[in-house]
Amino acid sequence: MTSDTYFTARGGWIEVIAGVMFSGKSEELLRRVRRATIARRRVQVFKSHLDERYAGIYRVSSHDGRTTEAVPVDTAAQIAAHIRSDTEVVAIDEAQFLDERVVPLATDLAARGVRVILAGTDTDFRGEPFGSMPELMAVAEIVDKLHAICVRCGNPASRNQRLIDGRPAPYRSPVIMVGGQDTYEARCRACHEVPLPDEGQVPLL
Ligand code: ADP
Ligand code: ZN
Repeated sequence: MTSDTYFTARGGWIEVIAGVMFSGKSEELLRRVRRATIARRRVQVFKSHLDERYAGIYRVSSHDGRTTEAVPVDTAAQIAAHIRSDTEVVAIDEAQFLDERVVPLATDLAARGVRVILAGTDTDFRGEPFGSMPELMAVAEIVDKLHAICVRCGNPASRNQRLIDGRPAPYRSPVIMVGGQDTYEARCRACHEVPLPDEGQVPLL
């Protein structure tokens, strides 16, 4: 069952677009928003950690000239405060960065008849579940897991490789790096490297 074929009589449901960075989650979210706009649904788009410089990328226009722009937010409460009573579709990008209140927010909106679309990175640089993504994937009617291309071997990539100054980031590296050059690339499970400081790799148990 895909999002384009899923409809219910009362209308409310949750869709999650999950996957690694560069897997096309934002592209897919905006494709769905564009189609909902073409269908003349009233749509609101939110994005956490939205850099104001990139806000324009989230401007979605339909052929009849209606445009929708993403509202930058830091918390689920800010989304709740922005939602208008007549909104029919709510799209949220970078959902992994939002607090856990995003789960009841999504379920409440769906119960009120709103179509809720959330896109987010489902695993962190260690390959472990990220924020509220596991819960959101559990309560969603539809989950699509997208893959990028592994920059090492060309296979489907399901992991975010974090690099610090060009080398694989250790398992216990701080979330915020001071001074170091912190970058990410898409890799498959086999090419993903998360070294422990002394042992070289993550133990199985
Ligand atoms: P996401 O929201 O999942 O981070 P985006 O929609 O922002 O993804 O970007 C997806 C685009 O990134 C692709 O269409 C492609 O042009 C580009 N891209 C860059 N690196 C890769 C990669 N390793 N694998 C796949 N696409 C990549
Ligand atoms: Zn690989």
